[in-house]
Amino acid sequence: MKHQLNAYFILSGELPPESKEDLDEFFIQFSEKIQQSKKEGKFDIAWSIKKSELALKISSIDSISPHVAILRIRKQLAATIGKKYRVGLRGFKFKYYKITTEIDDQPIKEFTLPLTKKLTFSEKEGKNWVEIQIDPEISEDFVEKGTIERIVRRVSEKISKQKYGAKKEHHEIVFYSGEKELFTKENPTQLMQKANWIQRTNYRNQWILTPTLTTLSEALKQIMVDYIYKPLGFDQMMIPKLVDWSVWLKSEHAEGLYQGGFEPYFVVQPKEPTPEYFEEIADYITVTKTIPNDMLSEKVTAPIGGLSYAQCPPFWPWLQGRTLAKESLPIKVYDWSGPTYRYESGSAYGFERVDELHRIETLFIGTPEQTKKIGKDVRNKLRDVFEKALDLEFREARVLPWWLQQSAREDEEDLDELVVGTIDFEAYMPYRGSRKKSEWLEIQNISIIGQKYPKGFSVKAESNLELWSGCGGGSFERFLTAFISQKGLNPDDWPTEFKKYFDKLPTPVKFH
Ligand code: ATP
Ligand code: MG
Ligand code: ZN
Repeated sequence: MKHQLNAYFILSGELPPESKEDLDEFFIQFSEKIQQSKKEGKFDIAWSIKKSELALKISSIDSISPHVAILRIRKQLAATIGKKYRVGLRGFKFKYYKITTEIDDQPIKEFTLPLTKKLTFSEKEGKNWVEIQIDPEISEDFVEKGTIERIVRRVSEKISKQKYGAKKEHHEIVFYSGEKELFTKENPTQLMQKANWIQRTNYRNQWILTPTLTTLSEALKQIMVDYIYKPLGFDQMMIPKLVDWSVWLKSEHAEGLYQGGFEPYFVVQPKEPTPEYFEEIADYITVTKTIPNDMLSEKVTAPIGGLSYAQCPPFWPWLQGRTLAKESLPIKVYDWSGPTYRYESGSAYGFERVDELHRIETLFIGTPEQTKKIGKDVRNKLRDVFEKALDLEFREARVLPWWLQQSAREDEEDLDELVVGTIDFEAYMPYRGSRKKSEWLEIQNISIIGQKYPKGFSVKAESNLELWSGCGGGSFERFLTAFISQKGLNPDDWPTEFKKYFDKLPTPVKFH
C-alpha cells in the first residue's frame, strides 16, 4: 500500500527559530523508529513551518500509514515543544491524502464513498489498483476512530458486492415433519378475510386482529409457555419498542439500513413540543381537514431511530457495560409485549407479511456451552409446538443470514460446524402449489449468534468467561397463516391439542 499525506498542525503560537534543531531531531528519530519496525517498507517525513502552522509531507510505502503516524506525532510532539517553548498543538488538518492499494477486481460500475474526494481505478502489470483520495475536510475525530481504514475496506466490499450480488443465503433442509392431513387449498388470508377474522386497515400491510384471531394468538401464547418457556425456565420480560440509533449502531443494524434485511420505520421528534410551534399546523388541519405534509416535515427532526424491528437489540442496554455474575447465567427470557414494525416493500401482501407484526422473541445468554445447549433445547421444543400442538407440515433449514455472515466469517471454525448459525422453520402452504415447487413460509427461526451482541454492547461475565447469545423469532401472523392454510377455518378439522387451549372461538361480527 502506498500513501501520500500533506497535512499541517495548527500551533497555539509561533515557534522561535532555535526550535528548528529540536524539530529536525524529533522527525529524524520518529522516522528512524518507524523504519526500524517496518524494515521492508519506506517511510519519509518532510516538515516546514510557516507562522503558526507546522506543515508535514509524509509518504509511506508498505509501512505505517501517514494518518496513523500523524496521530502519534500529535502525542509525542506536544510533549517535546510544549514544555520547552510553551507552544501547544491545536490539532491537525489534511490538505491532501492519497492512498493507493491493490484490489482483487475492477468495479463493474463506478461508485462514490463518504469522506472520499475521488476514487480512481486502474490496471497495471496485470494487477488492479485503486487510488483513494480522502476528503481533506475529514475530522480529526474520524481519523482517530478508524474511518480511513474502513473507507479502504469498503472499496473492496462494494466491488465484491457488485460482482457477486447480495450474498445468497446458504439454505439446507435438515428436517421434515412428513406429510400432514391438509383440509384446504385456499389462500389463508382470503379465508380469514371472508370470515371476518381479520380486517385490512387503510394503512399498508396493517391488519386488525378481531377477537377471533386474538383468541387464537392467546392460545398460541399459552402453548408456548407450556411447551417451551415453563419446562426450559424462561421468564417473560418487556423490551422497549422504540429504538434509538445508539442501539442500532451497536447491534450493527444501522450499517445495513435499507440494504436488504433491515427496513425499519423511522421515528422523529417535534423540533419544539409547544402549542405555539404547532399552532399553525393545527389551524391548517382544522380548516382544511387535510395534513400539510411539507409544513409538518419542517417542524420535526431527522429520525432519532425507529420502531422495534426485531426485539433483541433494545434488550441489550440492560446489560451494557456490565459484568454478569456467574450465578446469573444463563439468562433466558422471552418478549411479546408489543408489536414489531417493518417496512415490507413491494406490492401489498397477505396476512403472512405485515408491516405491524406480533413477534415472539426468545433470547438467551450464557457461556458457549450453555448457549448451544439452550439453542438445541428451544429448537426441539419449537418442533413439538409445530408437530404436537398444531400438527403442521413443516421443515427445518439451516441458513446463514446476512447479519451473521460478518461474525461467522471471523470465526471460520464455527462456520464449518455451523455452531453459529440459524435454523429456519418453514411451513408448507398448499395454496401456493406443490410441495416441491412452491415457496414455503418461514414461520420461526432460532439462531446461535456467538459473541456478536455481548461484544457489541460490552457485556462481560465474571472471571472472564466467554459470553454468547442466541435468539429466536416467530410471529403469530405467520403461525396462524400457516396453520389456516393447512387446516382451514373449521375447528372440527383442527388438532385436539390446539383446541384444548381455548374454550370457544368468539363469534365474528357480521356486516349487513
Ligand atoms: P422473511 O425472509 O420471510 O422476510 P425474515 O428473515 O425477515 O423473514 P426474521 O427477521 O428472521 O424474518 O424474523 C423472524 C420471524 O419474524 C420470522 O420467522 C417470521 O415469523 C416473523 N416475521 C418477519 N417478518 C414478518 C412480517 N413482515 N410479517 C409477519 N411476520 C414476520
Ligand atoms: Mg424479511
Ligand atoms: Zn433476536
